[in-house]
Amino acid sequence: MYNYIFGPVASRRFGLSLGIDLSPAQKSCNFDCLYCELEPAKTVDRIETPPSVAAIVAEVKRSLEEYPDIDVITITANGEPTLYPDLDRLVDALNEIKGDKKLLILSNASRIADPEVQKVLRKIDIVKLSLDCATPACFKKIDRPLKSIDVETIISGLEAFRKICDKALILEILVVAGINDKPEEMEALKKALDRIRPDRVDLGTIDRPPAYDVKGVSTQKLEELSRYLGHHPISIMHKEKPQKRVDFTREEILATLARRPQSEADVAYLFSEKARKKLEVLLHEGRVKKKNIAGVTFYIPA
Ligand code: SF4
Repeated sequence: MYNYIFGPVASRRFGLSLGIDLSPAQKSCNFDCLYCELEPAKTVDRIETPPSVAAIVAEVKRSLEEYPDIDVITITANGEPTLYPDLDRLVDALNEIKGDKKLLILSNASRIADPEVQKVLRKIDIVKLSLDCATPACFKKIDRPLKSIDVETIISGLEAFRKICDKALILEILVVAGINDKPEEMEALKKALDRIRPDRVDLGTIDRPPAYDVKGVSTQKLEELSRYLGHHPISIMHKEKPQKRVDFTREEILATLARRPQSEADVAYLFSEKARKKLEVLLHEGRVKKKNIAGVTFYIPA
């Protein structure tokens, strides 16, 4: 029986994960996102009654003995983990005991402009931060943050963090129908991504019951929107099977990869069997190579 640990849960992108909940008593978040899987709640700027570092570390040690095969230890919260007041001490303690496991944090990026937060996050193996919109109106509409938080500060903070982060930096964009599923929002996000240069962008949509009455978009729409995001390695959440897979020629495969790396899931989703065979030949010839970015394998031009 654990108070702060949950899982292990299988994550498609990160493997087997053991979660740490830094706010077990109630939702503690400085956002109130429309798509949140938790109940709607008043935004706050700190976690009330946070658990102690010693109590969390004792549970992590015990669970690592119970589940020695996990891949990652995920720092998260019933809300936003960077609101935890002892995050620095906790990360140091987890790095000491994690052995060959990777440390991962899932955060809404709201505090990334704070140099103290940057200092802590750069000690974590995989940092996954949300950026759903790059324009102020869209950001406020989807993420419903505390009044003091603005998206340009977040983008500048992400840009500054990228410069000092030598580990894996992943950005997540969650698409909500009728809000950020527009070309102009994707174009604004592209400009932000060009500044930030994340290692990977995870593009997804709502797949669990949301806090408010909003809807996700289809996989086809995600594919369409990804084209506005430029050459960044984008991992798309594929919910449905494609209606038709494409018979790309060799030249088309090379042109597609030059425009944007394709993940293994993209290839399985979009490429016909013949096209997949052509891709294997290109791989064999050394014209294409595979690259693993924080647990997701991409095909890129060699
Ligand atoms: S940042 Fe995460 S926890 Fe906070 S409201 Fe948004 S989805 Fe929920």
